[in-house]
Amino acid sequence: MKHGAGGKWYLNAEHYSNEIVEKYRLKDFLMEQYRNFEQLPMRKVAGVDGTGLGYKLRMPLVGRLVKRLAENMLHSTRPPTNPFKAEGHIGQVVPLEDAIAILEACAVEPIIEKNCMCRMMSRGIKEACCINFGVMSEIAKELPRFVPEKDKFFLTRAQAVDRFKTHNTKGYIGTIWFGPFPYINNLCSCASPECAGIRPRLDYGVKSIYKAEYIIDFNPDKCTGCKACVAKCQFGAIEYSLSLKRVTVDMKKCWGCGVCRHGCKGKALYLQPREGVPAYKDDY
Ligand code: SF4
Ligand code: SF4
Ligand code: SF4
Repeated sequence: MKHGAGGKWYLNAEHYSNEIVEKYRLKDFLMEQYRNFEQLPMRKVAGVDGTGLGYKLRMPLVGRLVKRLAENMLHSTRPPTNPFKAEGHIGQVVPLEDAIAILEACAVEPIIEKNCMCRMMSRGIKEACCINFGVMSEIAKELPRFVPEKDKFFLTRAQAVDRFKTHNTKGYIGTIWFGPFPYINNLCSCASPECAGIRPRLDYGVKSIYKAEYIIDFNPDKCTGCKACVAKCQFGAIEYSLSLKRVTVDMKKCWGCGVCRHGCKGKALYLQPREGVPAYKDDY
């Protein structure tokens, strides 16, 4: 939870352990939560339900209060108690390299790939791109709507790395989630605006997810102006300049997901540690 302090919470293997599952009896908790996810937007939390949330968040004073309630809930580090609240459900963007480190060194087997809940809830689309670990894998297999229509539901570590690479290369944003704190169980491949983690932050300024530990670095001399990276960036950080005949990068808008690199044959785009860039080192 110490973003910007130099450590990476998602590479601390303790957060993935079965001991946490036992300690907080997370199997029953998560089963209840996932069975009821579709109803969460209608359920009242602290007197506020999710109906017309966009409108509520824009209301003067009331909006600020709702935003604070939502952030307090998502950032909670108290032991999880109520499966009907998204308590302790905070995440961060991760580039391919860190996702591979998570899958190779931290994720507890069994590892599965289930249908993305956000795409299903917002567009009715079933797309298998959420990689889950440990007890979450056991829960998802009991819930048919999350099980993809394909042979591979359970993945080996190597298959999980391959699947994540495929999604990331396609342009999906890698994200890692506490769910609930202190247990990490989801490595997602997200698209905006479907993602229920990214959208509240982009549209309403709710800190529902943190930017990555990295930020883009750009070498204009290597840019051929092919524009392949422009469509890859879901945060609008890259623009093509007709007068310069190459792209320009707005570091303020960069979340450090690294997917733009996959489109760049000239290797003009790199990631650098966010903490090494004074202007953006605390901009998580
Ligand atoms: S966080 Fe991302 S991949 Fe996970 S369920 Fe939401 S959009 Fe899908
Ligand atoms: S510019 Fe930043 S936010 Fe956009 S794709 Fe590249 S790394 Fe991601
Ligand atoms: S993909 Fe690379 S070479 Fe092409 S426009 Fe983007 S930065 Fe330039």
